[in-house]
Amino acid sequence: MFRKNHLSALIILFACISCNVEEKGLEKALVSINADDMKNHLSVLASDEFQGRAPATPGEEKTIAYLAEQFNRIGLKPAGEQDFFQEVSLVKLTADATMKMDITGGKQKLSFAFSDDFIGGTPQLSDFIRINDSEIIFVGYGIKSPEYQWNDYEGVDVRGKTVLMLVNDPGYATSDTSLFDGKAMTIYGRWTYKFEEAARQGAQAAIIIHKTDAAAYPWAVVQNSWSGPAYYLIGNEISRSDLQLQSWVTTESAKKMFESAGLDYDRITGSASIRGFKPIRMNLKASVSFKNQTEYVKSNNVAALWPGTDRSDEYIIYTAHWDHFGVNPAFEGDSILNGAVDNATGTAALLEIAEAFTRLPERQNRSILFLSVTCEEQGLLGSKYYAENPLFPLNKTAAVINMDGLNISGRTKDMTIVGFGNSELDDYAVTVLKKYGRYATPDPSPEKGMYFRSDHLNFALAGVPSLYPSKGIDDLEHGKEWGLAELEKWIEDHYHKPSDNYEPDIWKFDGMIEDIKVFFEIGHKLSITDRFPNWSPGSPYKPVRDRMMGK
Ligand SMILES: [Zn+2]
Repeated sequence: MFRKNHLSALIILFACISCNVEEKGLEKALVSINADDMKNHLSVLASDEFQGRAPATPGEEKTIAYLAEQFNRIGLKPAGEQDFFQEVSLVKLTADATMKMDITGGKQKLSFAFSDDFIGGTPQLSDFIRINDSEIIFVGYGIKSPEYQWNDYEGVDVRGKTVLMLVNDPGYATSDTSLFDGKAMTIYGRWTYKFEEAARQGAQAAIIIHKTDAAAYPWAVVQNSWSGPAYYLIGNEISRSDLQLQSWVTTESAKKMFESAGLDYDRITGSASIRGFKPIRMNLKASVSFKNQTEYVKSNNVAALWPGTDRSDEYIIYTAHWDHFGVNPAFEGDSILNGAVDNATGTAALLEIAEAFTRLPERQNRSILFLSVTCEEQGLLGSKYYAENPLFPLNKTAAVINMDGLNISGRTKDMTIVGFGNSELDDYAVTVLKKYGRYATPDPSPEKGMYFRSDHLNFALAGVPSLYPSKGIDDLEHGKEWGLAELEKWIEDHYHKPSDNYEPDIWKFDGMIEDIKVFFEIGHKLSITDRFPNWSPGSPYKPVRDRMMGK
């Protein structure tokens, strides 16, 4: 919870007295954002021909060529290191999926099957991984956080051992607001953090116990997302550690392990959210061996610039990841994960917003960078690469606006601001929504940790104020309950599944177009001010920003 800055809202209010002239000009830009254009882009980006847009595949070549061609047509300037492209060097690791996991030392030997009971892979650039009788230690949530005074690794040396842990964080499990951020997920609840921390602790293997509500997605999402090849940035921290295995097990598998160890699953996993929890030696051993294929590959962020006028050395960045999961032969029938909503919609919107900026009768002051990043689905890698290798200085980047998975279910009165309260950027969103008679709502399910699940996060971690507006739930016709149910049903049925297809006859475009106009206007407002919006007081991202801005 952060206090909001009301002063900035006032400033925007006063600035708007001069808005009338500006409003007229905006109209020309706004009409260029329309359903026909979106449909054209979507029918290409989400087509079977684009093969699910997997990084470093022919699907990528087609995708980035299309984006470059469109940005060029619209009249934007190439802003990559080479033309519109910023090359991202990656290592692609493909673990042999015939592996199994044996658990011994308990009442009975357990043998887990890949995909049904567990999934796993390695961050190591090795041909073969062998984990032999590695001692298993249950480390609760696997969190070491000075900020929340919590250390699940207290008093135990896990070097060369296997750590087993729960997803999400103790605040989620208990809804206790004095623990972490209460029900809202913190960054410590994310799987990426948990593997990284295990690596820092010197563990040999790390296993996360899946639970649908705590992870915010069913086991099928784990299967679909992480049983294919995994990508890592070259030189990343985790590949340089001793961690040999990153794995997820189903709740059922975990329960079997506890039972075999003679431990009470409910009691012990429950105790993991009580302050003072101590890691537990389970007297079990894990063994896993598998072949691992290492390939060095290159992928690309796509960067296009619409230069500003008198503040052209200051930037507003729109981000939308272009990548998805490609083709997974494990699926019978439709094996192409087209990622139509996720994130052909955001990528197409990037093009629409770029075009809208070019239609403004008067050019904006600040430069606008349209950045379509790669490898979001592989752990936000393209945006991480950009944040580490920015094309334009981050201390000159006033704001980032991210789009990931737009609204396909019709007009809503609201838009969700994921991470509402984080920064003064909220005020810009509120003002624009108000203009349309709409309103901003905080994330209806902060326990899902959505703020940590898309590309703006890497900009936030690097200090740049980042806004992640998402589709609303207050449906104009059917109301909130229906809207939320619709969203949840979509996640259940289509999220990271081959059925995330482009359905022009089923999707509703009116709500989507209204949302894109809001995205455009937020960026436009930011592009004509000279203010650098900041994080809210108390935000974990503020100290980095203050430092880079010389405060
Ligand atoms: Zn996405």
